[in-house]
Amino acid sequence: MNILVTNDDGIAAPGMWALAEELQKIAEVFVVAPDREQSGVGTSVTLHQPLRVTPVRPAVPGIETYAVEGTPADSVIIALKMLLKDKIDLVIAGINEGSNLGNDVIISGTVGAAFQAYFYGLPAIAISIGAFHDLHFEAATRIGLLLAQQYADGKLPRRILLNVNLPNVPPDQLTGVEITQLGERSYTDAVKRGSVKAGHDGKRDYYWIVHGEPQWKEDKGTDIRAIMQKKISITPLHNDLTSQEQFESLEGLRSLLSKELGSGSLS
Ligand code: MN
Repeated sequence: MNILVTNDDGIAAPGMWALAEELQKIAEVFVVAPDREQSGVGTSVTLHQPLRVTPVRPAVPGIETYAVEGTPADSVIIALKMLLKDKIDLVIAGINEGSNLGNDVIISGTVGAAFQAYFYGLPAIAISIGAFHDLHFEAATRIGLLLAQQYADGKLPRRILLNVNLPNVPPDQLTGVEITQLGERSYTDAVKRGSVKAGHDGKRDYYWIVHGEPQWKEDKGTDIRAIMQKKISITPLHNDLTSQEQFESLEGLRSLLSKELGSGSLS
């Protein structure tokens, strides 16, 4: 089995190398990742500038490794369509520093990379740990290995996208594993005027968009609640954002618009 490992924390991120090293036990591992941190870019793809790719020395010996001057999704596209054409069986993004829960999946570069692989019809897994300092990678690397092994044994469907989150605790403090729904975690995003030099860069004013405090909804069965309870959360995702609830309730709107526009061809 050949596994592509990528991330959004950049080519030097220790979580990605811990995962790559573990996966080497059962697979040939390839690393193609952004040359710098790209957290929060979601599924963004670079269309207006060329992408330079540099072969780099792997942090773990024996792994073919490339740094891409682009986003996580760019890295997946370049890997699957150019560098490692037809070689890859499974794509794993992570291990991300910081959880990707609830609404985070929309802007997460880690999940974005996994989505890109999923769009190409490959099974994809995103793995994140809920902390930014003193990370415990042991359980996360182990679950990456176990999921890859399950896939290799034919026990996971090919059409699968899993968003895995772990609390940042040593393995003996984990309380279980739960298959979850996306919860609701929203941030009050604040736009802050840069404080250095009174918000002026020497030429112009500038602004920082920063995350405010997350607002948690700890509904039962959600990824957020599982993490709060020190469980590993696994959420199956797909790319259909269609709201089935509103689909039927919009029939009235459709017929009104159709009448107002007065065209037979629209009804
Ligand atoms: Mn990240």
